[in-house]
Amino acid sequence: MGYHCVVCVKQVPDTANVTGEAMREDGTVNRAALPTIFNPEDLHALETALDLRDRFGGTVTVLTMGPPKASDVLRDCIFRGADRAILLTDRRAAASDTLATSYILSQAVRKLKDVDFVFCGRQAIDGDTAQVGPQLAEKLGYPQVTYLEELLGLSDKTARIRRNVGNGWEIVEVDLPVLVTVLDTANEPRPAAARRVMKHKKARTRIELEAAAKNALPDASADEREAEIERQAETLRSRGLMLEQWNLDDIDADLEWCGLSGSPTKVHRVQSIVLTKEGYTEIPPTEEGLRQLIRELVVDHTLG
Ligand SMILES: Cc1cc2nc3c(=O)[nH]c(=O)nc-3n(C[C@H](O)[C@H](O)[C@H](O)COP(=O)(O)OP(=O)(O)OC[C@H]3O[C@@H](n4cnc5c(N)ncnc54)[C@H](O)[C@@H]3O)c2cc1C
Repeated sequence: MGYHCVVCVKQVPDTANVTGEAMREDGTVNRAALPTIFNPEDLHALETALDLRDRFGGTVTVLTMGPPKASDVLRDCIFRGADRAILLTDRRAAASDTLATSYILSQAVRKLKDVDFVFCGRQAIDGDTAQVGPQLAEKLGYPQVTYLEELLGLSDKTARIRRNVGNGWEIVEVDLPVLVTVLDTANEPRPAAARRVMKHKKARTRIELEAAAKNALPDASADEREAEIERQAETLRSRGLMLEQWNLDDIDADLEWCGLSGSPTKVHRVQSIVLTKEGYTEIPPTEEGLRQLIRELVVDHTLG
């Protein structure tokens, strides 16, 4: 028994190593030009779920939507203790904004069934919107608790959570199933366990096997290649090393809501902004301070 925790994890470009080629003209990220890492806050979301499972029992399923290379973060999750890992990959999901991403993830969570917790990081370091968690909660019809810093307790179907609200804490009680976004101050993510690395290092998704077969057998016919992929998949399956892979059909996604057609957001321009001391104004928390702030917002056409 216990609790079924789903953790949404994202592989992101390492934005600490951004070079000139990182952004394309159209404002999308040129992912090939950047090294990739595990989105930092998602490691804390994973740790929250693993700790919950260790204390109260249950299973941890990790879910990522991304290109074939995103299988790397799934292996990392398995090395750290996740029970099940699913890659959601489909060319028709490319260019999804947060609305489309959260729709696709919600369909995957629905397919998983009997979910008690969905954990997300607070924010991904590439898109940086912090919208996916809350949007996913809305689409699933779950209550949401953002900014978790500690899971204080669980009794049957109610969780008690301390959330950081910036200048203090709030303790909330919430009925399950619930979506929770996790802060990087919540915990210290456990490292990969050497025994799990040894056991699962050869775990692969089908799309990785396909890419490897293309490289290894460049002159083979499609049928020969397919036979080789199936042979390897069978070997991995028998050893519990085949990572699950779903596409948009597997989760009964409405294609209108996915990829470009499901994404009203257009990134017009990406700018690097360095805040200098001169650009900073302190508004006193007084009536006059607020009046001054509103005057400035109106003059700048931020309001009105
Ligand atoms: C420069 C730039 C600006 C952008 N601006 C916008 C914008 O203003 N509006 C918009 O809608 N889109 C925007 N996008 C697109 C956005 O990056 C994608 O929609 C992205 O997949 C999800 O948004 P996010 O990275 O902001 O995630 P966030 O909302 O910051 O992510 C929060 C959490 O949701 C989970 N999560 C997010 N994505 C995935 C995933 N693919 N798989 C599994 N879990 C996931 C993770 O737990 C993550 O920690 C922008 C992209 C770029 C490169």
